Amino acid sequence: MTSTISARAAIVRSSGGKMSLESIDVAPPRADEVRVRMVGVGICHTDIVCRDGFPVPMPIVLGHEGSGIVESVGSSVRSVNPGDAVVLSFNACGHCHNCEHEAPAYCHQFMPLNFGGARADGSSPLSQNGSVVHGNFFGQSSFASYAIVRESNVVKVDASLPLPLLGPLGCGIQTGAGAALNSLGIGPGLSLAIFGGGAVGLSALLAAKAVDAAQVIVVEPLAARRELALSLGADAVIDPRAPDRDALTQLREISGGGVHRALDTTGIPAVIATAADALLPNGMLGLVGVSPMEATLPVNIMSMIMRGIGIKAILEGDSQPQQFIPRLLALYQQGRFPFDKLISTFPFDQIDAAFHATESGAAIKPVLLF
Ligand SMILES: [Zn+2]
Ligand SMILES: [Zn+2]
Repeated sequence: MTSTISARAAIVRSSGGKMSLESIDVAPPRADEVRVRMVGVGICHTDIVCRDGFPVPMPIVLGHEGSGIVESVGSSVRSVNPGDAVVLSFNACGHCHNCEHEAPAYCHQFMPLNFGGARADGSSPLSQNGSVVHGNFFGQSSFASYAIVRESNVVKVDASLPLPLLGPLGCGIQTGAGAALNSLGIGPGLSLAIFGGGAVGLSALLAAKAVDAAQVIVVEPLAARRELALSLGADAVIDPRAPDRDALTQLREISGGGVHRALDTTGIPAVIATAADALLPNGMLGLVGVSPMEATLPVNIMSMIMRGIGIKAILEGDSQPQQFIPRLLALYQQGRFPFDKLISTFPFDQIDAAFHATESGAAIKPVLLF
């Protein structure tokens, strides 16, 4: 019989506030849940957005790129056992139309299940001195040394892999790689322009190179990130702030007229307009960036129609985590998807410093170690 255990957690008590490291109580897993001892957790842009004002109930434990070891399992859990290494991914109901058609990122209950701060029945597995602390953020709340997760959103992984670094496969890296492979269908013969060289954009680059895309071009204003993109296999990089020529002119020159696919990770309307203009006829534009809430698409409709351009707004890289995370790990083991080159590690105690490092651009993908 499992019982409530104590965990160290980073709690946000007010919008825009700092993370406060405190002791919390984590309930035993219910029938369809597992309790995981966290070994690593990545910091994703969505954690920053939710700390700073995107509506989530407070106090809350954020964190949604966890990896760890199963500590205990509920009575109906069959796919994992205590001691198994797991990566945690986003939550989905499992029975709506999209969940039943391998599109769990568009689960009809995606918002309440991932941002509601509670289980589907409104309860939270986290508490402190008997008071509720909101949990279940992305079905995990993994800025804590233990997390309660549903069986359906843990992905069992090989124990020989570097488990502390695998958490970002559950969100940021899955989003970029999935945008390239699942949403935009990148493969041999197709070119791709990526706007923004952060964790998501560079994950898309790694995935596109892993499947032998024809040409991958990264558009990024920071010189250090352009250099990193080149070292990761980008065929060309573009400085959109170059004084002599704009990004579109440079893109057309380098690509010989345009690209088959474009991916915006910036959410900036003017950048999205350039991405759309850079496409060849029958091209496809993917959107994964977080835009201002009032922003609308800045594209000329007839220009899109006359070229047959498609636009795909993308959540979680259109991934089915149980299939896609093992696929990415297989590519990693073959040396074709070195996502660990995007990661810098921090002790869990340094969570505020790690947030600062990602906001300043000093770190591409911080991972906190327990
Ligand atoms: Zn669903
Ligand atoms: Zn995320």
